[in-house]
Amino acid sequence: MKRLQSLRGLVDLLPEQTSLWQFIESIARTHFRRAGVNEIRTPLLEPTELFARGIGENTDVVNKEMYSFTDRGDRSCTLRPEGTASVVRSALQHNLLNQGSQRFWYSGPMFRYERPQAGRQRQFHQIGLEFHGYSDPLSDVEAIAIAWDLLIDLGIGRLSLELNTLGNATDRILYRKKLSTWLLDHVNQLDEDSRQRVHTNPLRVLDSKVPSTKTLLVEAPILTDELSEESYERFSLVREGLANLGIPFIINPRLVRGLDYYNHTAFEIVSDQLGSQSTVCGGGRYDGLIEQLGGSDTPAIGWALGVERLVLLLNQKSIDLKPSSLDFYIVNQGRIAQSVALTLAQQLRQLGIKVELDNSGAAFSKQFKRAHKSNCLKAIIIGDNEVNQKQLRLKDLQTDLPEECYSIEAFLSQVTKSLDS
Ligand code: ATP
Ligand code: MG
Repeated sequence: MKRLQSLRGLVDLLPEQTSLWQFIESIARTHFRRAGVNEIRTPLLEPTELFARGIGENTDVVNKEMYSFTDRGDRSCTLRPEGTASVVRSALQHNLLNQGSQRFWYSGPMFRYERPQAGRQRQFHQIGLEFHGYSDPLSDVEAIAIAWDLLIDLGIGRLSLELNTLGNATDRILYRKKLSTWLLDHVNQLDEDSRQRVHTNPLRVLDSKVPSTKTLLVEAPILTDELSEESYERFSLVREGLANLGIPFIINPRLVRGLDYYNHTAFEIVSDQLGSQSTVCGGGRYDGLIEQLGGSDTPAIGWALGVERLVLLLNQKSIDLKPSSLDFYIVNQGRIAQSVALTLAQQLRQLGIKVELDNSGAAFSKQFKRAHKSNCLKAIIIGDNEVNQKQLRLKDLQTDLPEECYSIEAFLSQVTKSLDS
């Protein structure tokens, strides 16, 4: 019969890969704990309207990339394409913002119907941070610094922080006009998608990944020239804050983010080792979003890391993440011996000892081979002879020392004693 395959762009993570993921997650958790950032977990499925309203109707994510369907109760549902809108929804639903400003982090799968390639999947994973109720430019600096430190601690080098400001709403209206005019003058040189966007969402054109459009845009007017004094001052304070922390950055005046809700600070952390999927972390300020989703006017800033891209970078470094060794491998054969071995494994595991139980029933020699290949320090051997004597044999797998013989009871009490001391 034909074997089933996973859907295109949805990837299995096999046991040999998960230790690297756990490593990334544990470093991230440590950094969030240190910075007083609390975890929030929201559903994978949300009302479609949340993303349509939150991310913006004229974005690629909402127009082309969402996994949406109508459920049996006739509601339009969407698998979350990103985390920010859900975190805002949840904070509002549970009135968390009435209790003062909030610092959240989340992690988990996101879904976007994109063209799968290295570093781009249809189910991918993000680790993200959101600060709600923070307006000071130094909170932008703090948020960026948490991402930067985390990446450095993971051992990822050759990263650069690209920084821009999207100004305030008025700055963007002025800029939009200027940019639209320029784009209309060059419309024949734009790619198909960008041509459409000139009318619907001209700023999005700056986010184009099409090489010819990218080259053309080098000549386009930049938003920095339209900044109000207040926005300019704010941007200066962010740059100054980063410089004071010794975090290097470059200004990229063409950096806009793929989602509509950003204003003022926008940033990406980019690697030169990832080909065209180069952005490892993206984020920025989204002061308008909370109000747009029904809350009061609340400033906010956040970012999200793409875990698959981190994994690609860490795999290139081939860091050694052998799982910690197990304590015992139980070799056993014979009906009763198998049941005694299972009981012993359970007793040891309840004491917190790591045990691998061979339940193949294979010949002792085969089981021994596997014990040596395993990650265990010692083998416990139980056969019919041992069962009759209520005994077990113990063999050190690291040395040639001879086996030792123990009564099962004495062995258990010795293990318990060694745990107590
Ligand atoms: P890109 O420009 O690469 O499409 P984006 O601007 O759409 O990224 P964000 O929505 O800001 O990305 O998401 C933050 C991060 O999540 C990205 O920087 C990237 O590392 C990761 N990411 C986004 N989409 C995908 C995907 N389809 N597959 C794997 N990782 C992704
Ligand atoms: Mg994208």
